[in-house]
Formats: sequence, C-alpha cells, structure tokens
Amino acid sequence: MIRIRSLTKSFGALQVLKGVDLDVHRGEVVSLIGASGSGKSTLLRCINGLEDPETGLIEVDGALMGRELRGGRIHEVSPRRARAQRAEVGMVFQSFHLFGHRTVLENVMLAPRHVRRVSRDAARSAAMEQLERVGLADKAGNYPRQLSGGQQQRVAIARALCMRPTVMLFDEPTSALDPELVGEVLDVIKDIAADGATMIIVTHELAFARDVSDQVVFLHHGTILESGPPEQLFGAPRHERTRAFLQRFT
Ligand code: ADP
Ligand code: MG
Repeated sequence: MIRIRSLTKSFGALQVLKGVDLDVHRGEVVSLIGASGSGKSTLLRCINGLEDPETGLIEVDGALMGRELRGGRIHEVSPRRARAQRAEVGMVFQSFHLFGHRTVLENVMLAPRHVRRVSRDAARSAAMEQLERVGLADKAGNYPRQLSGGQQQRVAIARALCMRPTVMLFDEPTSALDPELVGEVLDVIKDIAADGATMIIVTHELAFARDVSDQVVFLHHGTILESGPPEQLFGAPRHERTRAFLQRFT
C-alpha cells in the first residue's frame, strides 16, 4: 500500500530524512517511534504530500510521487497524481484544528462537501456514520469548545475517516491530551485498526504501539535504524540506540 524508497528531505542545510526505505502492506499498522527531531513528522508529511520529497519515491496505493535521479538529472514523478494522492491519505495531528464556529457535524462534513463535492445529504449521512464509529453521534450538534480534548480528537479522526482514505496517518494523536483522555482516543484508533485500515502511527505510547502494531519502526536522526514486529523491537532490540531510546520510557 505504501512504498518508500531512498527518501531524502532537507530544510536549508539541515538534512532531516537521510534515505528512508519503508513498506507498509494493506491492512498493516505501523508504529513510528523515535526521539523528538528525528524526522517522524516530516516523514508523515511527505507521505501525505504536505512536504515535497527532495529525492526518492513515495508510492501510495499505486500513485507515485517524488523525484528520481536518472542519467545525472532529477526527474519529477507525476505531480498531478501526487495531488490526487493527497486526498487518499487521511491525517490526524497532535492538535485537532477543528473550526470553532462550526458544529461537530459541520466540521466532519466540510472536506467531503468541498473536496469531494458530494451532496449535502450524502455528506451528512457519511459524517454521522463516522461520528457513530468514534462514539460521538450524540455530539453532532455541539461546538468543539463544548467537548473535551479527547472528544475533539475523536471528531478529528471522524473527519479524516469521512474522506474514505486508503491510508491513515496519526502524528502523536494523544500528545496534547490530559492523561485521563488518552485511553479513549487510543481505543478509537485500535477499533479502526481492527477494521482493517492501513495506518502509520507516530506515538510515544509504547505499550499501545506494542499492542496494536504489525511493525514498529525506529527512526534515528533521519534514518530507520531498526524495524520489526513489536515483540522483536521492544523485546530484543538489536541496536544500542534503540535500547537507549526504549529505556527512557520504562
Ligand atoms: P519529529 O516529528 O521526529 O520530532 P520533525 O520531522 O518535526 O521531527 O523535525 C525534524 C527536524 O526538522 C527538526 O530539527 C525540525 O526542527 C526540522 N524541521 C521540521 N520542519 C521544518 C521546517 N518546515 N523548516 C525547517 N526545519 C524544519
Ligand atoms: Mg513530530
């Protein structure tokens, strides 16, 4: 479903991604862990097209984007398909970014209405379906400020799901939440995973990552130092740096 090859990305003189290769199969849940500044968000932002790759290839569900070095020259790979790809990738951020002057239902309906151009009725029923899924159908008429942080993040998840993405990316979805609200959001993400969604989750909730992931990837200074099934990565990490990182959380 996702294939990344030799992905690099720099901001000015700072190379943030230094040649990342990653495969995510359909229905697979991948947790991306690593220290702050290691490039986790940049990697997600490249996958959903918020950042352009510097060099390398990213393929999502058959749509290819990126820049390839051929015959000593950089070739742009299909920018039109890259734009189409953006709508196929759902992303949930640390901060929820809901529109405060719109109801929960309106927030979830917006993107399908304006990006997919679906009818009001169809957008409404799709939105209600997703709100149901995250357990917030009864809050449809409320405004974001009337909801807890955990509920707002669940609305943000419903909003992303409403676009029927082929891939879901979560960037530290519980980092902004009070500890007692983390569980309800992780439960929703777990449900979505159980429904067979393909997803990449950046998280510091290592117990959750261990529980939900098929594959765990440890990013260190812009390279994937180690990856594998959770039992292996958490239980028998091969690299000293992976061990050092994991020890900070236990
Ligand atoms: P992580 O999510 O793992 O904490 P990021 O991908 O956010 O790491 O950032 C990796 C590095 O890239 C950091 O040093 C950060 O300051 C830098 N960086 C990220 N985005 C930008 C940007 N738009 N402009 C300049 N530097 C950036
Ligand atoms: Mg980040």
